[in-house]
Amino acid sequence: MKLLVVGSVAYDAIETPFGKTDKILGGAGTYIALSASYAGASPDVVSVVGGDFEDKYLKMLEEHNVDVQGVEIKKDEKTFFWSGKYHNDMNSRDTLITELNSLGTFDPKVPEAYKNAEFLMLGNLSPDVQRKVIEQMPVRPKLIIMDTMNFWMDTMLDELHRTMSMVDVISINDEEARQLSGEYSLKKAARKIQAMGPKYVIIKKGEHGALLFNDDKVFFAPALPLEEVFDPTGAGDTFAGGFAGYLAAQGAVSFENMKTAIIFGSAMASFCVEKFGTERLQNLEKQEIYHRILQFVDLVKFDYQEK
Ligand code: AMP
Repeated sequence: MKLLVVGSVAYDAIETPFGKTDKILGGAGTYIALSASYAGASPDVVSVVGGDFEDKYLKMLEEHNVDVQGVEIKKDEKTFFWSGKYHNDMNSRDTLITELNSLGTFDPKVPEAYKNAEFLMLGNLSPDVQRKVIEQMPVRPKLIIMDTMNFWMDTMLDELHRTMSMVDVISINDEEARQLSGEYSLKKAARKIQAMGPKYVIIKKGEHGALLFNDDKVFFAPALPLEEVFDPTGAGDTFAGGFAGYLAAQGAVSFENMKTAIIFGSAMASFCVEKFGTERLQNLEKQEIYHRILQFVDLVKFDYQEK
């Protein structure tokens, strides 16, 4: 089934304890679309870039079955630029530069050919931009998934609540879930967030995996312990893209399907962090993904017999 992805397509400059990059391809929309493509989805992307955006990146996305006709090119402006520096523990980072450029005035336009998408993945953007996309869909998609971050909770809480009331799934990290709900217990936090709109709440815990809540049901997906974590940028987006892509490729929405989708997203995120930026995601083999998913199965499989 069709998957529409809305999110930033960007240039990033990243610094980790292992090295530093110049401007490389980044953006939440880029990570989401690439990751979803490996699930067998052919994502359509709505985004904006500037005249400085290199055509080779759009071609690379097309080679991964990503449709980029919804990526607006503002010739006289520059592409969104983000720069971040990771601390030695790799779990936290400082944003050094955010230049909104063409994203600052982004007014999303969903092409006619995208309007019948059954699945909609809203990457982390301002909640009013996210809502404008939902409002352009003539028929409500079967599943709407949104990502967000603490910045929007601090600056546009009312708008965020409005958009949240229109979606089915929200993906946020544990700190953001606590901020949004005012609850420390993630179980209580998830219940409060469900009451704000999304029936399914995904709480990401970085290198400690992710939780999926729906009514009273909970599922836990671990993160794979990795030898090498090179650059965590985009891991959350890659996770969300894998999740959305898996569901769109399967076409069915259920808690059971979402469990596998979460594992698929976690596997994709584990690849993402192995190299700088999108490098690892650009060159992945289906077989590698399959083997990694089996590692997840092994990680949590055990027997228990009552004596
Ligand atoms: P993550 O590591 O999952 O938080 O995602 C990092 C990606 O998000 C980078 O590639 C950035 O280009 C992009 N990004 C950072 N800040 C923003 C923002 N304010 N709006 C949209 N995209 C952003």
